[in-house]
Amino acid sequence: MQTVETDRIVIVGAGLGALYAALKLAPRPVVMISPETLGEGASSAWAQGGVAAAMDAADSAQSHAADTVKAGDGTVDHGIADLVTQEARAHILDLTELGTPFDRTKDGGYVMSREAAHSFARVVRVKGDQAGAEIMAALIDKVRQTPSIQVLEGTMATELEVTEGRVTGIAVEAADDLRSLPVMLRGAAVLLAGGGSGGLYALTTNPPRIRGQVIGMAARAGAMIADPEFVQFHPTAMDVGEDPAPLATEALRGEGAILINDLGERFMQAVHPDAELAPRDVVARAIFAQSQAGRRPMLDTRDVLGEAIKTQFPSVAEACARNGIDPAVEPIPVAAAAHYHMGGIATDEHGRASLGNLWVCGEASSTGLHGANRLASNGLLEALVFARICAEEIAAVVPEGTAPLINLTFEEGGNPPDPMAVRALRETMTSHVGVVRDASGLKTALRKIAALESDYGSSMSFLNMTATATLIAAAALTRKESRGAHERSDYPEAFPGDGERSRLTLNDALAIRSQICKETS
Ligand SMILES: Cc1cc2nc3c(=O)[nH]c(=O)nc-3n(C[C@H](O)[C@H](O)[C@H](O)COP(=O)(O)OP(=O)(O)OC[C@H]3O[C@@H](n4cnc5c(N)ncnc54)[C@H](O)[C@@H]3O)c2cc1C
Repeated sequence: MQTVETDRIVIVGAGLGALYAALKLAPRPVVMISPETLGEGASSAWAQGGVAAAMDAADSAQSHAADTVKAGDGTVDHGIADLVTQEARAHILDLTELGTPFDRTKDGGYVMSREAAHSFARVVRVKGDQAGAEIMAALIDKVRQTPSIQVLEGTMATELEVTEGRVTGIAVEAADDLRSLPVMLRGAAVLLAGGGSGGLYALTTNPPRIRGQVIGMAARAGAMIADPEFVQFHPTAMDVGEDPAPLATEALRGEGAILINDLGERFMQAVHPDAELAPRDVVARAIFAQSQAGRRPMLDTRDVLGEAIKTQFPSVAEACARNGIDPAVEPIPVAAAAHYHMGGIATDEHGRASLGNLWVCGEASSTGLHGANRLASNGLLEALVFARICAEEIAAVVPEGTAPLINLTFEEGGNPPDPMAVRALRETMTSHVGVVRDASGLKTALRKIAALESDYGSSMSFLNMTATATLIAAAALTRKESRGAHERSDYPEAFPGDGERSRLTLNDALAIRSQICKETS
């Protein structure tokens, strides 16, 4: 394999975590591996609600931490929740300084949205539902002006090189449909900020690139993985036949939008005292139950917003218009879709993975902040807080200096994932590892994943996807209880008391998978 040596710090990904870390590392030289043009392909740019932070004088980081712990259903790391919520305010002020045009009140305060399971209106937003796009635009502008940051657009990572427990290189290839032969990039340190895995499911809100590849890549290299079974399903993805499914942000329910079915029944009132503002997993399961019963769940914004949805929530209005829906006069069909991965590469409070010279931030990591269920709008916040922590930690071990620009030339001969295999994998995950799980479905999933891997496993990208899928399904099979977003119809109760986080390597998950495959042979 062609090898390129560099003194640059290699950052995998180009979402919020990657961009923010690259800026915080300046002037240390950085190279970002970005599959798309900056701003595209990342969940960060699609975030609608905003960033959770106790900005109001009457609110507090303690209250934010308490809500985070409660939503996580017994498996949140309290120390991490305190750390992240205490840092939140400073990051909002920093983003403001970096040029994010947060919505402001007449007296200069921040406009705060109310989202489910928050005891306070505490989500800062931009132009209604434009938070992700606007934060990303501000950071991309700064990154483009920062000479220490080199962005390799059109490249993606497929493999980690590990020598004596330490990451020493990373294989990258062209990110287009044909791919290329890999090039081994050996840099000063590696920060993974490659996002979550929602796109491993056929019904998802995540961009197509977000298919658990970076988590799988680290797992294949031997990194410890935490809580992979905890996948959050967003209750109100628009059920309009688009892949990915456009999102109807939770802030709409914060504004008072209600959920009804095709009979016009407001079904959440019978499910939870907070009705539409119940925790996300509760609402997702209720929506899923309505869908399963053929009762077509819908989000009704007519009374509460009327025509104002078009100016206050432009992304939602645009997706409606694209699909011939006028939300001012008709309700929006919705379905529960894979949205956020609480699990990921296990990290400590310094953002360090179990392998040496490897740091992880953002959705690819599992820091312990979210437990079994992420509190709304804590995702962007976690990416910000740990991007900075990782940058500071890496800066402590990589000296300042300069490095020449990297010039990568890719040779033909790549091995892209087979689209049919990817489709089959995604359908397997939605059908058998989705909102409600049971042993029989999870075993079916593990067998199907094993078969797909054996037929199509010559593509590294595909192997990265099947690794993450295996980890999710194996951990879901092992967790014989229902907790947070992980619902087992055959084990409907949670174990008494606080839950335990799961930690496993890919080898552990493969051992479970091969045992299941043997059961049928
Ligand atoms: C529709 C939607 C709405 C959301 N709304 C909110 C919200 O309002 N508030 C909130 O807090 N959270 C929200 N979230 C979650 C939040 O957006 C994410 O958790 C957060 O953006 C993750 O940031 P990240 O930098 O870790 O990953 P991402 O922003 O997803 O970036 C990952 C990057 O890694 C790249 N990548 C992927 N694979 C590879 C590879 N193999 N090699 C190299 N690069 C790779 C991708 O191209 C991308 O650039 C939302 C998510 C979605 C999908």
